[in-house]
Amino acid sequence: MRFRITATLLVSLLFSNTAAIASAEKLVIAHRGASGYLPEHTLAAKAMAYAMGVDYIEQDVVMTKDNRLVVLHDHYLDRVTDVMTVFPNRYREVEGNKRWFAIDFTLAEIKRLRVSEGFSVDEGDSTSLKANYPTRFPLFKAHFSVSTLEEEIELIQGLNHSTGKNIGIYPEIKSPWFHRHEGKDISKAVLRTLKKYGYTSKTDRVFLQCFDPIETRRINDVLMPEMKMDINLVQLIAMSDWNETMVYSNGEAQPYNYDWMFKPGGMKKIAEYADGIGPWKSMIVMPGSTREQLKTTNIVRDAHAANLLVHPYTFRLDPTRIPPYAEDFEELLSVFLIQMKVDGVFTDFPDRAVSFVRQLENEQQ
Ligand code: CA
Repeated sequence: MRFRITATLLVSLLFSNTAAIASAEKLVIAHRGASGYLPEHTLAAKAMAYAMGVDYIEQDVVMTKDNRLVVLHDHYLDRVTDVMTVFPNRYREVEGNKRWFAIDFTLAEIKRLRVSEGFSVDEGDSTSLKANYPTRFPLFKAHFSVSTLEEEIELIQGLNHSTGKNIGIYPEIKSPWFHRHEGKDISKAVLRTLKKYGYTSKTDRVFLQCFDPIETRRINDVLMPEMKMDINLVQLIAMSDWNETMVYSNGEAQPYNYDWMFKPGGMKKIAEYADGIGPWKSMIVMPGSTREQLKTTNIVRDAHAANLLVHPYTFRLDPTRIPPYAEDFEELLSVFLIQMKVDGVFTDFPDRAVSFVRQLENEQQ
């Protein structure tokens, strides 16, 4: 592995902009914590990521019925908790499926739930749970609970105090369009919490991320000036057909159209209000790429030309999660961090990314 990195690095040094790779710090962002090893977004997963030496730890943030901020990837509770057995009747029907929305529960109610590694429920038999990642932590073992954003920041800041390090936070405002439709201004609440914990300027160790471009711009143009804050913002990029971001028109939710971001000038437009982008990794190295031939886009080049950092998601090493153009996880990291020159990676396996980046730094000395 050592030889391969050296060889790839040499190729990069010979054929490309050397300054960019030689000087830039490569960030390892723990995606939902060390979520490859412990249930996502639990404090245990965050502590493990911290101990693995990451640069930033991610928090996905949603709001409860009583306006508290909790750290959960989905605005539903049913993929990672036992909500369907504790509160069997408290669901909403969504396109024929029962979904338990965090926003319909108070924090006290959510604190009663047990958190598990993610699963799906067998349609015909609600007692039959199927692990999303069978090789990860087993379902409903040990004891984990949902934590508030405040509890998680206190964990990370507490560890910063006791270790003398300064590890950053990387909160994501989830579905602001949904929260606002439900009458809740989640962005204001997140900013208020960040300010309370001392994250107010671009030199503070925080990146605030959001998929909703209307909201990210509002945070930059309206909310932060109002609150006398100016922290680093990251525009996450989705494919329009994922329905990740919706826009209400005449009461109907329509998918937000991300197409403008991929057109010439798109990155410049994002740079008007954000400091970085969080693209899906297939937006950089396209499907159909092979080890012999990578099919790449100009998104990193254009983003860097617009002074935007590039932090793609998500780097996983579970079976089937390594794309055909990389032989293993380390080669995948090499493609992105060295060849494509991204500035950081979101990963479920922070230990492997940290050791890759450290080795890279040693090679460069
Ligand atoms: Ca996220």
